[in-house]
Amino acid sequence: MKWNDLRSMTLEELTECVEELGEKKFRARQIYEWLHKKLVETPEQMKNVSAKLRDKLLKEHPLYGVSLIESRESKIDGTKKFLFGLHDGNIIESVLMRYKHGNSVCISSQAGCRMGCRFCASTLLGLARNLYPSEMLDQIYAIQRLTGERVSHVVVMGTGEPFDNYEALSRMLTMVSDESGIRIGHRNITVSTCGIVPGIYAFAKDHPQVTLAISLHASNDKIRKQLMPVANRYSLEELMRAADYHIDQTGRRLTFEYSLVRGVNDTKEEALELAALVRGKNCHINLIPVNPIKERDFRQSEQSGVDAFKKILENKHIQVTVRREMGRDIQAACGQLRKDYRERSENG
Ligand code: SAH
Repeated sequence: MKWNDLRSMTLEELTECVEELGEKKFRARQIYEWLHKKLVETPEQMKNVSAKLRDKLLKEHPLYGVSLIESRESKIDGTKKFLFGLHDGNIIESVLMRYKHGNSVCISSQAGCRMGCRFCASTLLGLARNLYPSEMLDQIYAIQRLTGERVSHVVVMGTGEPFDNYEALSRMLTMVSDESGIRIGHRNITVSTCGIVPGIYAFAKDHPQVTLAISLHASNDKIRKQLMPVANRYSLEELMRAADYHIDQTGRRLTFEYSLVRGVNDTKEEALELAALVRGKNCHINLIPVNPIKERDFRQSEQSGVDAFKKILENKHIQVTVRREMGRDIQAACGQLRKDYRERSENG
């Protein structure tokens, strides 16, 4: 068993374990439901499970999850950012976004990240470690517990590269939609990758109902390599082939994310090149005005530049939206809260 902690275990694994301890099989489902449906925070809250069984289980299978360090809520749109601690002292952040269609939670897949995208705050301190399935799940559970509001959508777009922690991601996706758990359907979930090509092929097979978003951020390899080290590993050509495969296999619309950086990737030529790159694909482009981080001097494109870029794509009949900025008043750039907290702690 790869993940030994109680909240990362599937119902099947839990059943096997409970039987090995000489207990009745139905206890496993009870425990699973306490953890993944009733979303208890501590083992003592599993009321109909004896203390003896709890102790026996916990000896082999500790209960890992997230605990709140601090949160901030936007006065503009109700967006809420959460800073969570993990059992080993690592820190991650998650975001709750309140939309008309429901509450969406943005979760982290790693503590830190090793992909090195130039404009991203999450990567500045490198990768600390992969998250366990339980730690991804519990970001959703904790936000539902803390707010008392039902979470209906999940986006894996927080800190980390989900396909750099593929197996844990995959298990989390299976468990989050499980009948005995929180039951968030795969069609309500989006996973975003910086473009790890083998991950895209595996994902198309393993989780065809989950929406895939690919961070493109450039219309040619030369610019992409300036922004994203992963472009040195996989060419745009390989990436687009994988995207086509995904669309073909799943029959679902794919999202390309494109963060607009002033003077780097936001000219008319690049808009035209981007249109040619995605033409004919069942896809949608999400333009994100880059969120400047203080460690780098990238700047947002001007509003007129964003509009012009969008217009060119529309004229070529490409589906395109500009991402609405959520929680601007609490918003350090994505990943900045975690980094700021680390710096505050280190400075006493
Ligand atoms: N590792 C995944 C998830 C990362 S975050 C990925 O790369 O897709 C989700 C999106 O936010 C990605 O498209 C990422 O490139 C983008 N992003 C990160 N930092 C940003 C910033 N400062 N401004 C705008 N977009 C940013």
